[in-house]
Amino acid sequence: MEVCYQLPVLPLDRPVPKHVLSRRGAISFSSSSSLFGAPDPRQLSQRRGAISYDSSDQTALYIRMLGDVRVRSQVGFEPERRSSHPYLCIDFRTLHTRLGYGSMSASSSPERRVHRLLSFQRYLHSSRLLRGIPQQIPLHILDEDYTGQARCMLEKVGNWNFDIFLFDRLTNGNSLISLTLHLLNQYGLVELFQLDIVKLWRFLVMVQEDYHSDNPYHNAVHAADVTQAMYCYMREPLLAKSLTSCDIILGILAAATHDLDHPGVNQPFLIKTDHYLATLYRNTSVLENHHWKSAVGLLRETGLFSHLPAEDSLKMERELGSLILATDISRQNEYLSRFRRHLDQENLSLSNGSHRHFILQMALKCADICNPCRPWELSKQWSEKVTQEFFQQGDIEKKHKLEVSPVCDREMNTVGNIQMGFMTYVAEPLFAEWTRFSDTRLSQTMLGHMGLNKASWGSLQQEQPPVSVKAEPSSPGTDAEGGAAARRDGNTATGGTSSKELPQGSRES
Ligand SMILES: [Zn+2]
Repeated sequence: MEVCYQLPVLPLDRPVPKHVLSRRGAISFSSSSSLFGAPDPRQLSQRRGAISYDSSDQTALYIRMLGDVRVRSQVGFEPERRSSHPYLCIDFRTLHTRLGYGSMSASSSPERRVHRLLSFQRYLHSSRLLRGIPQQIPLHILDEDYTGQARCMLEKVGNWNFDIFLFDRLTNGNSLISLTLHLLNQYGLVELFQLDIVKLWRFLVMVQEDYHSDNPYHNAVHAADVTQAMYCYMREPLLAKSLTSCDIILGILAAATHDLDHPGVNQPFLIKTDHYLATLYRNTSVLENHHWKSAVGLLRETGLFSHLPAEDSLKMERELGSLILATDISRQNEYLSRFRRHLDQENLSLSNGSHRHFILQMALKCADICNPCRPWELSKQWSEKVTQEFFQQGDIEKKHKLEVSPVCDREMNTVGNIQMGFMTYVAEPLFAEWTRFSDTRLSQTMLGHMGLNKASWGSLQQEQPPVSVKAEPSSPGTDAEGGAAARRDGNTATGGTSSKELPQGSRES
């Protein structure tokens, strides 16, 4: 038997009952039946998308990215004030005030009941429809030319300069579905795993929909971009010759779902606003746990793997989790040290399943933060988008008189200074090790782009010097590293990050 991967210790280490998991996206705290007046389990099962905190729990409170207080108050439950902070639960709809969601009342109208069935993103869609607001991007039937061009692009899906933004436009905003389906087909995985095409389609549509299209950065296009990068890495000679079909399907699905239902704010924000997800996951890899559990919820809801033996599909879910959890940038040093150790000792053996899994984790980590390694035109767009999301969080923090997170203050930062810090302290060390592992043309191309992009940001910085960051209250040297890393993918970073940035449960294993 091969050694199992080092799975993080999670509060959710037991199988979750079917009736609970079918409620995708909700989270159950151990609750007493009185809260729901001992409801009929069948009614509960209609609340799609739950994750149970306690496997014996039959009476889940329905909690998600928004509306916690309202939903809880419906059942007469006053949320505990765990801290002295006046903003116990910031309504995530404040992120979308420009769309007019800020004025929803807390009444228990029939619409509100509908919201409880939906993921955050689907809630926004339904809210738009209920309020008579037309969809922002009306669906048109695409001209044959567009689909033709998209198909053409897919023939070169392994190119590092693949323009995901163009591909997204050509597919009418369906880049994630189109790309993932294409890759699964290309590898023959649909046939091999005997995937039901209707279930697969439904799964991919739901995955794409559960990304928040209003997030400037953490949206389905980012997921598609990461999936494309992951594909490029899995094609690298060392991996291509050793990955099994199981590894490949996991790599693709993990990339496609790794930021599922991302709220567009980072973990410190969830912690300081006492968000329930932070409590549920004990302030540790809060977002990544949520992305994983949301992905598992969709897998179960669509029954994509329901034809596989239970132990196989459970193993898939577990490994999907360990891949997604590896994208927690606050644990970067831990992964990087292990990677270095293996490379120093030259003891990586890709015939060993746990080693292959570790390399997949490293590949996904690289794919997730590969923006600085893309050609300038693509890289620049990503940089602007991620900064926009940081600043959006900073604006919310200011509005609610919370301490503004590093790199989230638009008065104190520029796109360039955030990027310079991120490249220096986060991306370069990771890609340097990756190149040691796989010193190929692709790796050299990536390092080459990163060098050029850094120089470009440097010269732009000189033309337009950044606003001083000295007023930032965190410890010196943390802005670039901790800050950029922290916000990069919605997390805090280790190594040089001020302690106030670290999640309380930040750890060890
Ligand atoms: Zn990501």
